[in-house]
Amino acid sequence: MAEAASRITAEIDFDQQGRQAGYLRAPLSRNTSGWGVIEIPIVVVKNGSGPTLLFTGGIHGDEYEPQIAVSELARTLDPATVQGRVIMLPAVNIPAVMNDTRLSPVDDRDMNRCFPGDPRGTFSEMVAHYLDAVILPMVDASVDLHTAGHSSDAALSTNMHYIADPDGMARTLAAAEAFGAPYNVVFSGVDEGATLTSSVERRGILSLGTEVGGWGRVNIEGVRIARRGLRRFLNFMEVTETGLEEDDDPKTRHMQVSDRANYSFAPAAGLFEPCNLAGDTVRSGDPAGYLHFVEDVDHEPIKVTYKRDGVLWMSAGPGRVARGDTVAVVMNEYTGGRL
Ligand SMILES: [Zn+2]
Repeated sequence: MAEAASRITAEIDFDQQGRQAGYLRAPLSRNTSGWGVIEIPIVVVKNGSGPTLLFTGGIHGDEYEPQIAVSELARTLDPATVQGRVIMLPAVNIPAVMNDTRLSPVDDRDMNRCFPGDPRGTFSEMVAHYLDAVILPMVDASVDLHTAGHSSDAALSTNMHYIADPDGMARTLAAAEAFGAPYNVVFSGVDEGATLTSSVERRGILSLGTEVGGWGRVNIEGVRIARRGLRRFLNFMEVTETGLEEDDDPKTRHMQVSDRANYSFAPAAGLFEPCNLAGDTVRSGDPAGYLHFVEDVDHEPIKVTYKRDGVLWMSAGPGRVARGDTVAVVMNEYTGGRL
């Protein structure tokens, strides 16, 4: 184990052959119990020799499709079909999952802004540290599944960062095509230094993210793509050789989000009316939406525009937004260049 020992205990043995289902136990002192724990579901399936894959859902509690897809695979993956090891955590931030919120109600933190974490920190920091220091050293490839949560809707997609090493870049693009979402977005994020993805990449591990829904509901097609994508990714990594449906030949369009000009932010707090759906073709200067001030008679709405031509990756739709919230993200065809 790493220099500073984790306070989290695992009741499963990561080196044991076969299927193990259980919990990670993170200590949490609370009013009802000074020695209480929080139990995080984990399933490990190991057989023979081969790569170790990590599938995570529920790092944000209000993103449902990943939780459904990862927990279904965790229930059904047959060890006899596996060569290697698959570590599945369908509800990493279990307090946020049960609270149906992006942030953890335990410490009011976004776990995906806590990496590489701190074993002596808050609940979210402690779990982030466990993933970074205990789990990731075992892992060869990671798929961290997300949606746009309540704040936006997303064109159904995998995503990845630009990787300087050409072999790593080519392999990750191939992995995204294997996953088979309609889009794969090579992107430059607004705040990426403290995400699970950043920890995975620092260790040179193959990394994919997803955005398979949003707007605070379960996207039926998003669940289907996540479910199929995980199975196809297992085959891509040669951990399984499972037969897939005959008509199953998805085409993935590689896109990029290169800088802040792909983003539109709300210039004020208000009630946001979006003008397009995720996946729509949009043009620079067109309205992304209108901010309404219904509390104020005769207050003209503010038009928020797109800064680039492209395809709408994320479209806000929570109703009320705060000043500085992202209300639209546009993606462009991937040019193959450095981002
Ligand atoms: Zn998320």
